Amino acid sequence: MSSTVGPLEGLERATIIDPAAIRHNVRTIAVAVSPAKVMVAVKADGYGHGALTAAQAALDGGADWLGVAHVTEAIELRDSGIETPILAWLHTRDTDFIAAVERHIALGISGWEIEAVAEAAAALQTPAHVHLKIDTGLGRNGCPTEKWPELLRAAADHQERGLISVEGIFTHLAVADEPDRRETDEQLALFREAVATAEDAGITPDLRHAANTPAAMSRPDAHFDMVRVGVGVYGQSPFADRTGEDLGLKPTMELRTTVSNVKRVPAGQGISYGLTHRVDRPTSLGLIPLGYGDGVPRIAVDAPVRIGDRVYRSVGRVAMDQFVVDLEDPETEVQVGDDAVLFGGDSGLSAADWGAAAQTINYEIITRIGARVPRIVRDSGLDQIEADQEAEGVQQSTAQGVR
Ligand SMILES: *Cc1c(COP(=O)(O)O)cnc(C)c1O
Repeated sequence: MSSTVGPLEGLERATIIDPAAIRHNVRTIAVAVSPAKVMVAVKADGYGHGALTAAQAALDGGADWLGVAHVTEAIELRDSGIETPILAWLHTRDTDFIAAVERHIALGISGWEIEAVAEAAAALQTPAHVHLKIDTGLGRNGCPTEKWPELLRAAADHQERGLISVEGIFTHLAVADEPDRRETDEQLALFREAVATAEDAGITPDLRHAANTPAAMSRPDAHFDMVRVGVGVYGQSPFADRTGEDLGLKPTMELRTTVSNVKRVPAGQGISYGLTHRVDRPTSLGLIPLGYGDGVPRIAVDAPVRIGDRVYRSVGRVAMDQFVVDLEDPETEVQVGDDAVLFGGDSGLSAADWGAAAQTINYEIITRIGARVPRIVRDSGLDQIEADQEAEGVQQSTAQGVR
């Protein structure tokens, strides 16, 4: 294919985002956790997919809530026209709570924020919607259990005065990606206790939530009223021993470019900075125009790239703009301009494969793709195709059933 409008639409490199896959994944999770509601995490620019693209697809797929870390992220969504409930849970003294309350952005409260939020509500004469967060063992954000009664008293007090409305209580799990670890049981027990203490203090919100993707998919006892899912929505498995496909999820992001150079080299040729790798036989090298300036981890070694119907491996150090794959044949048929896919699409390669090559996890790989890589949103319609097939299947089975 010599047309410039190939899969990359004339771009040199791109991530291709599929909203249909996001919709499919949200539906798959929603069915699995029903009747619990689904909050989709769209923080960090929608895990690298584009916050608005991810948010819109998530809502189209049936998400009830959106979740972000920062109020600034929530404001961006609101100001782009998203009217769904949004929760933001990570704040600093500089967080603009006034802007948040004005825009009806719900706020996660771990402690000190309650006074700042009540102040903003008082200034606006509008109650702030809050979700109280208890630290049940993660040791990051969240109210320590010994301070929980104090936070509940403050919350009840502000609620009575009409400054806040507590609509949720939540916690975050530390090891749900390892379903056999008992710490999750301990966290859930503490969470149930915290909810009971809140009830005794007259705080009885409708939304108790604890589960991230791994807990949503492995611990029904963690579903409560709502789950907060991120990585699964983006087609990724949070488990070391299961792929996204194993979980019925579809890849939502493809990272691709084309081979920018091919050359034959003799045995002994060194590759890239530091000459950390030398080929031990005559071969050909393919140059891939993506580097750590694009979010490809410099630490990655032996990382996969699909070119045509084969997967090749990276050799030598990843540089700022480029890295090299060994084409394993001095007479290679790979040519300049051939499509090169790092992960996603129908490459059979996943962000988890790149995570394994770079001592990290799929979460980091998809989230860190740099601003220099353009994003293309291309709806595959795969969820519609599924729906049609299902409808056809139903018709056929009804037809058979009639006899
Ligand atoms: C990011 C985040 C989630 C989503 O986690 P996944 O593992 O991606 O599903 C849920 N809750 C909180 C508090 C988070 O920060």
